[in-house]
Amino acid sequence: MIFSSEAVPFSKTGGLGDVAGALPKALQETGEVDISLITPLYSQTKPGLLRELLFDNLYVEWLGSMRRTRVWYSEAGGAPAFLIDAPEYFARGEVYGFRDDHERFAFFSRAALTLLGRLGTPPDVVHLNDWPCGFASVWLRAGREWGGFLSRTRTLFSIHNLAYQGAFDPGDLWRLGFRQGDESNAFMQDGAAAALKAGLLACDAISTVSRRYSFEIQSPENGYGLDWLLRMRRDRLVGITNGVDYETWNPATDEHLAAHYDAEDLSGKRECKLDLLRRYGLPEELDRPVVASISRLVAQKGFDLIKQAGGAIIESGAFFVALGSGASEYENFLQEMHDAAPHRVGIYKGYNEPLSHQIEAGADIFLMPSLYEPCGLNQMYSMRYGTVPVVRATGGLDDTVENFDRERGTGNGFKFEPYTALAMVDKLHEALHWYAEPDVWRTIQLNGMRADNSWAAAARKYVEVYRAVAGM
Ligand code: ADP
Repeated sequence: MIFSSEAVPFSKTGGLGDVAGALPKALQETGEVDISLITPLYSQTKPGLLRELLFDNLYVEWLGSMRRTRVWYSEAGGAPAFLIDAPEYFARGEVYGFRDDHERFAFFSRAALTLLGRLGTPPDVVHLNDWPCGFASVWLRAGREWGGFLSRTRTLFSIHNLAYQGAFDPGDLWRLGFRQGDESNAFMQDGAAAALKAGLLACDAISTVSRRYSFEIQSPENGYGLDWLLRMRRDRLVGITNGVDYETWNPATDEHLAAHYDAEDLSGKRECKLDLLRRYGLPEELDRPVVASISRLVAQKGFDLIKQAGGAIIESGAFFVALGSGASEYENFLQEMHDAAPHRVGIYKGYNEPLSHQIEAGADIFLMPSLYEPCGLNQMYSMRYGTVPVVRATGGLDDTVENFDRERGTGNGFKFEPYTALAMVDKLHEALHWYAEPDVWRTIQLNGMRADNSWAAAARKYVEVYRAVAGM
């Protein structure tokens, strides 16, 4: 059983949504496990995805009384999914970002556990994801001590991003139902309560979304105050690189594209490039390279480097197109970049799913200079779309992108180590240099398009981990 605060096709704010959407399907396809998903029902969830109202009256013990909640059932994601319908918490404009987020997701955790009781058979393993599931981890551990219905259920906790820890006022712990003493103390982190920390202490095993990130988070530089905990539990920590859902991200079938193409025939990609230039109102100069970025606009994604290198990117002669929303500092910078070179720079501020596909198809180079990157998905989507990634060698970017080697004709992208604008621009120039040699460029594109980052391999690794966890 997977618990996740977001999951495609029901909801998505970032990579977690993609993963929690694709993994259940891939796990089911292994034929080795019986898997389903529990996730909240948000206002952004399309009603057409819901199959039936399964329970009209799930009573959840909450804040000292019984709260009536509804549960919907769906198979729209390819595996059975149960959606917790609590409008007072989840029928809001955004998925996260509210003062009561800790209460919302503590409630989600409570409701999900209550639902397990109602469904009847305790799962062998509950797979928890990120800080919103930290509460469930603690309650599952407590239930084991009491010898309750879920006392034989084990937990795997996946870290998709260690920096988001679900911090809140410790004064709320008792209100949410946590016992004073060890249980409440497990939450304490720098004077606040942190759902992630308590969840990581209480779970049976931990995974992260790439191998390199699993090591990085054990160091003080990337541990966000929890490196000691991860070092302490390192014998229970494993890195499994995310896969790509090639049903959704495939240039041969992608419904959002102006034309289709594959590794055998790339001609459609040129049409997609024309379509992209038109969408951004840029001149239809098809031989000019397009450098692209699709991202949450936050420091993690390396926008400080892009900010420092804005002039150099424009001077490189390439088009630059960006899709993203987030910090106003970076939104303003992108606006300034556009205003400085309106015929070279195209920006779209906001979230736009179809455009994210059109950019992957229409661009030549995908720029992802992350400060840190647990796994990263866009570099893998880019490869499948024949768009060459230029990335910083960190976390999952380092695990999935291989530097191009001219001598051997190997490699699917370009990566740099130092977190500096200079190193990034150097790599960008190297990529642009090879772009100007179409035969070489084609080799790099095809190396990426033929890479197999499907979920099947990752799902098999999860099955192994579930087996190990079930036996703990
Ligand atoms: P993270 O989870 O840190 O945001 P990932 O690379 O793992 O980063 O996943 C990001 C996902 O969100 C990708 O599927 C990407 O296409 C999508 N995404 C990010 N920003 C936008 C946006 N503004 N519009 C559409 N999709 C976006």
